[in-house]
Amino acid sequence: MTNSGPPTTRFSVGLTGGIGSGKSTVTDMFAERGAAIVDTDQIAHQLTAPGGAAIAAIQSEFGDSFITPSGAMDRARMRARVFADSEAKKRLEAILHPLIRIESDRAASQVPGSYLIFVVPLLVESGTWKQRLSRVCVVDCPEHLQVKRVMSRSGLNESQVLAIMATQATRQARLSAADDVILNEGSQADLRPQVDRLHALYAALAAKGR
Ligand code: ADP
Repeated sequence: MTNSGPPTTRFSVGLTGGIGSGKSTVTDMFAERGAAIVDTDQIAHQLTAPGGAAIAAIQSEFGDSFITPSGAMDRARMRARVFADSEAKKRLEAILHPLIRIESDRAASQVPGSYLIFVVPLLVESGTWKQRLSRVCVVDCPEHLQVKRVMSRSGLNESQVLAIMATQATRQARLSAADDVILNEGSQADLRPQVDRLHALYAALAAKGR
């Protein structure tokens, strides 16, 4: 097996978790160990940045007022719109999700590593990712720690963080979808042995062709 074949030929793990659970922290640890990382949030950002592949469709679907003078999607305006209107949210997702899939596959075919990790914050919510993955890994932590971490990282207040969390799957729903769980309720150092164990498992499964 080569290190850079199309995603379907490489062992693929979907890594997910609620806001502030520790996805980025854990992803960095997998990257240090040699996993190939595809970050779908980063891809969604690129698609909606100036000149991004989703801009023309967003402009024709939502109008010029959702595009900034520099040619990016107006994130704050769009966030407010989709928060208030679930039909608008579906229309935005209908534009973004297929493009995210295409760009994720393209990135996956280019990034070297013995197996792939797709970081998908809304994996459980989206429904369509799971069938494309060999395995789902959930970064789990108690809700009060999510709130504390996001508040200190972002400057949002507690009710704002809780409002974001209310739009995401519950802790229980994520755990039900998990093949593997990384519990992030201690120090960052406590994550290392858990990542070591799963990295060894994924590398072994990838070597066996799953
Ligand atoms: P996510 O990507 O899931 O939103 P992050 O990995 O960015 O979560 O973690 C959220 C914040 O909490 C970051 O500022 C990160 O440095 C911090 N953090 C993550 N895990 C721990 C931990 N075990 N102890 C202390 N801080 C942590």
